[in-house]
Amino acid sequence: MSTIVVAIDGPAGSGKSSVSRAAASRLGFDFLDTGAAYRALTWLTLERGLSPADADAVIAVVDDLDYATVAGEHDTVVLVRGTDVSHAIREPRITAVVSDVARIPEVRVRLNEMFRATMAATSAPGVVTEGRDITTVVAPDAHVRILLTADEDVRIARRARELAPEAANTASQLRERDKRDATVVDFLTAAPGVTTLDSTNLDFEQTVQAVLDLVNSARAVSAAQASEVAPT
Ligand code: C5P
Repeated sequence: MSTIVVAIDGPAGSGKSSVSRAAASRLGFDFLDTGAAYRALTWLTLERGLSPADADAVIAVVDDLDYATVAGEHDTVVLVRGTDVSHAIREPRITAVVSDVARIPEVRVRLNEMFRATMAATSAPGVVTEGRDITTVVAPDAHVRILLTADEDVRIARRARELAPEAANTASQLRERDKRDATVVDFLTAAPGVTTLDSTNLDFEQTVQAVLDLVNSARAVSAAQASEVAPT
């Protein structure tokens, strides 16, 4: 049976990482956080003293990324050339410039190839992949395609809770990052065939359940289709 792909896009603070991770774990699926790869590339670019805005320099760094993830007890461990960068890639200095790296077309092409290869290589029955362009570019044929949104003030409040000590600038940073990212891919409106899941009035559990419900209905539809065409 082919791997079930669940594609989830959404803006910063929509909760897509934690919701996608929880949904994957409950389904027994793998989880692919594509934003972590953009962050890892940004980390390596800065580590080498290069500017994330210098497209040629960043493209050369992709060749050296040697990116790997390992499922940890609570979280995914992100390795760049064998170094654990799981925490470093979440630092504000990375968040502030990751959009510069993500706007380079060649970088997107290369990372998308890596994401598709990772999804194809999964040994789990399915994979939940989240990012900004998964439903539209990386896996437009995914079995389940979801745009996870929430009102901006709710997203800012959620992000502020995650980043308690640095919360002062959360609102302006989140708005600025979404604005820059939205010039590269449109993750604010659902493409045809993509289900919008608005989590503004849902708590974490309800949002995870809504994702599981969408996956289960898609599975029921494919099972019904398979039995219709099965030879008797
Ligand atoms: O999801 P996260 O906030 O970790 O993503 C970090 C950055 O990576 C985003 O702000 C965006 O610039 C970039 N990104 C992207 N396409 C994706 C995933 C992330 O451009 N599929």
